[in-house]
Amino acid sequence: MKPAPFEWHAPATLDAALALKAAHGEEARFLAGGQSLVPAMNFRVAQPAVLVDLNRVAGLDSILASADGSLRIGAMVRNARLEADATARATHPILAEALAEVAHPQIRNRGTIGGNLSHADPASEMPAVMLALGARFVLRSARGVREVEAAAFFVAPLTTALEPDEMLAEILLPALPPRTGSAFLEVARRRGDYAMMGCAAVVTLDAAGRCAAARLAFCSAGPTPVLAPRAADALVGSAVDEAAIAAAAAMAKEEVDPMGSVQASPAYQRHLAGVLAARALRLAKARAA
Ligand SMILES: Cc1cc2nc3c(=O)[nH]c(=O)nc-3n(C[C@H](O)[C@H](O)[C@H](O)COP(=O)(O)OP(=O)(O)OC[C@H]3O[C@@H](n4cnc5c(N)ncnc54)[C@H](O)[C@@H]3O)c2cc1C
Repeated sequence: MKPAPFEWHAPATLDAALALKAAHGEEARFLAGGQSLVPAMNFRVAQPAVLVDLNRVAGLDSILASADGSLRIGAMVRNARLEADATARATHPILAEALAEVAHPQIRNRGTIGGNLSHADPASEMPAVMLALGARFVLRSARGVREVEAAAFFVAPLTTALEPDEMLAEILLPALPPRTGSAFLEVARRRGDYAMMGCAAVVTLDAAGRCAAARLAFCSAGPTPVLAPRAADALVGSAVDEAAIAAAAAMAKEEVDPMGSVQASPAYQRHLAGVLAARALRLAKARAA
């Protein structure tokens, strides 16, 4: 298959890229790793008139850690680089754990974290991880800059809060408090496939070993990545023992809204949500301790 004709621009600066997007609006798409956009163009599911290629834009590919352990990740950081980054592995180990489940190494070598999040596939692992980490996204346009919470960024399948002239420029991850553990687990038919269900858990313990805070998020669990706040809040104050984990997992099963696929019925996906929530919480608690 061949794509429909398009204009290709390869700006060298952020300002030039944003000016092109402002000039062409919805007619234009940013090209990052091309791992989702190019196949869609080849099948003519996407027919942008203009591509604004971000691969030569300087300044979008840094991974910066602050002394407090918070992280700023440029949108053009390749998934494979983020997976291997020693600092990110130390500050937010769930990134590497989940990225290992994203497609195959060849696709992670080209695909970017910004492209993955902007594509907003509800089956994608990283959007759920961003919800579990309480990430904020920096959106830039020729008009200025704004920040949105990850939870407000994902609006519907393949649809985000980005305006037609905006770019996802950076991902901001708050530092994880002391005694915090995290885990990402998924069930997929084959290694590298999109998950039938995936779960990201983050658990913070207090000095006495009780749960001070928890976050649970799921992929392939609804039209967007899904947070399970009732399940997570129910853990707070508990010892995160088997009874508390079972209660939280049962609540999480009710909070997800899976749509089903050729591989799994909604009922089976809901069952997986409960099983994965329990396993991920156990693992996150053990890592926190
Ligand atoms: C065989 C195969 C298996 C895959 N399996 C998985 C999987 O298991 N899990 C998973 O999560 N993904 C999977 N993917 C998708 C892969 O992770 C893609 O790399 C990713 O979704 C898109 O990233 P990209 O950098 O290639 O973006 P592109 O394909 O270049 O762009 C994707 C979309 O985002 C827009 N965009 C890109 N960057 C920005 C930006 N900075 N600001 C605003 N908009 C932007 C583009 O205009 C386009 O609409 C798979 C892909 C393939 C081909």
